[in-house]
Amino acid sequence: MTRRTLFRDFDVVVTMDAAGREIPGGFVLVEGNRILRVGDDPAGIRADEIVSGRGKVLLPGFVNTHHHLYQSLFRCVRGAADAELFDWLVFLYQRWSRIDEEAVQVSSAVASSELLLSGATTTTDHCYLFPRGGGAILDADIEGARMSGIRFHPCRGSMSLSEKDGGLPPDSVVQTEEEILRDCRRVIETYHDPAPLAMERIALAPCSPFSVTPELMRESIALADEYGVLLHTHLAETNDEETYCLERFGRRPVDLMDDLGWLRDDVWFAHLVVLTEEDIARLGRARVGMAHCPTSNMTLGSGIAPVAKILDSGVRIGLAVDGSASNDSSNMIREVRQAMLLQRVRYGAKALTARQALRMATMGGASVLRRESEIGSLEPGKAADLIAFDLADIALAGAADPVAALVHCAADRVDFAMVNGEWRVKDGRLLAADAPTWIARHNELAKKLTAT
Ligand SMILES: [Zn+2]
Repeated sequence: MTRRTLFRDFDVVVTMDAAGREIPGGFVLVEGNRILRVGDDPAGIRADEIVSGRGKVLLPGFVNTHHHLYQSLFRCVRGAADAELFDWLVFLYQRWSRIDEEAVQVSSAVASSELLLSGATTTTDHCYLFPRGGGAILDADIEGARMSGIRFHPCRGSMSLSEKDGGLPPDSVVQTEEEILRDCRRVIETYHDPAPLAMERIALAPCSPFSVTPELMRESIALADEYGVLLHTHLAETNDEETYCLERFGRRPVDLMDDLGWLRDDVWFAHLVVLTEEDIARLGRARVGMAHCPTSNMTLGSGIAPVAKILDSGVRIGLAVDGSASNDSSNMIREVRQAMLLQRVRYGAKALTARQALRMATMGGASVLRRESEIGSLEPGKAADLIAFDLADIALAGAADPVAALVHCAADRVDFAMVNGEWRVKDGRLLAADAPTWIARHNELAKKLTAT
């Protein structure tokens, strides 16, 4: 018989279901890799393993909707830490161009593990840098995520316009559009798994509308339609980007995406900071997805995404830590806190509640990845992706409302994390025995890659 795990006696089970049920003393029964039952009375239920939840809060695992995992090798690089986006990009491209398969694999394992420790059980990775001679970068990325055990949505990124075409990246990291399209097909055919509760799904993700040609943006859509995969890119991140698009294309970023046919419900955009009211209405009508990256936006001084105004527009909003070169942390529960606080800076204390921010990190992210029926909440039939926080943590001491406390107080690390029915974190520690070796190698590589 398939193995059953019973999670019982939690102070509260936060289901994130449509009714927003929070069950005091609740239980969740897991069978294999899926949730079988959720409720308040586990009497008579038998299981192979019983997890007692006294003093703990149980939630569905978080979904991180935008990242560049390799950037954990480029944290706090001198010369980049205080720059704005375009200067930051030009400076870092010189160093990023040195990455290879090994660097990508080990950084993917390390950054995914950091996400697991902070509550993310699913992550995307916008993998857009394919240095000439660097080897099979996306394959190495997937291998690294498998080492950590996280549910993974690698996005096959692309850049075809280099400095000589008026773009920002050096020639050595761009590919021809023929190469890009050929490899997009290959990675979809090799790794994309459309089956329910799949651990790996591919998306197609030109780096930005100005790092490839309009033809490639359109070809990416055609390919996504052919294979039924999602589309992703960066959009409307900074004022500089808007100026650049106006000068180069005579169009603002959202107009440009409309022209290219990218306002669709199988697309999600990272950032969406610089938007007009009209932009928000159009994005909402198209039901696009959004990866909101508050810490990255603050670090680069990009601005405050108008999330409070977007909430009821129809846009599907998820949260994201973004790459570690513009956040320097892959901590998901901290990102939930940043999201709540940043909206309040702009729109006042009622702009976003702790529970709204938690919903964005769970069901919001699931809907961005079009996996509403598979992940993001604790409901029968969904994947067994569960996390718990321990209220005995000093950061949560004395909190009256344990759910709000996870966001208002500075919760930092989960007590446990299970992904697809497999334990990945217990007692606040990674279970992968060789994780310390990855970190040591990661740090050696970081030193080498960031040397001037
Ligand atoms: Zn990004």
